[in-house]
Amino acid sequence: MKPIQVYDSHFTHGVREMRLTTLQALKLKLRGEVKAFNGRPEDWTGAPGEVPFYVTKCPKHGYYLAYEAGYEKALRCPSCLQELVEASGLKGVERARAPRES
Ligand SMILES: [Zn+2]
Repeated sequence: MKPIQVYDSHFTHGVREMRLTTLQALKLKLRGEVKAFNGRPEDWTGAPGEVPFYVTKCPKHGYYLAYEAGYEKALRCPSCLQELVEASGLKGVERARAPRES
């Protein structure tokens, strides 16, 4: 299989090339996600052992590496989360300014 470009916000903190097996590529296509490996990022100081990491695809940002987060075991796109944080930060600034302007 051709390697794919995967955004990895946990280990390499950048885009990495990943080579999937034919079976992995098929699962990714059919389910929208596939288990890539077990790992534990260095900055997870309080976390237990290794957890499974998956390759999945964001319709907006493309392939990314994720683990099952929260009670709902959701794979979350780090780029979408970053956009949410930035958007909420801007809204906070607007709210803070409003009383002084009126
Ligand atoms: Zn995204």
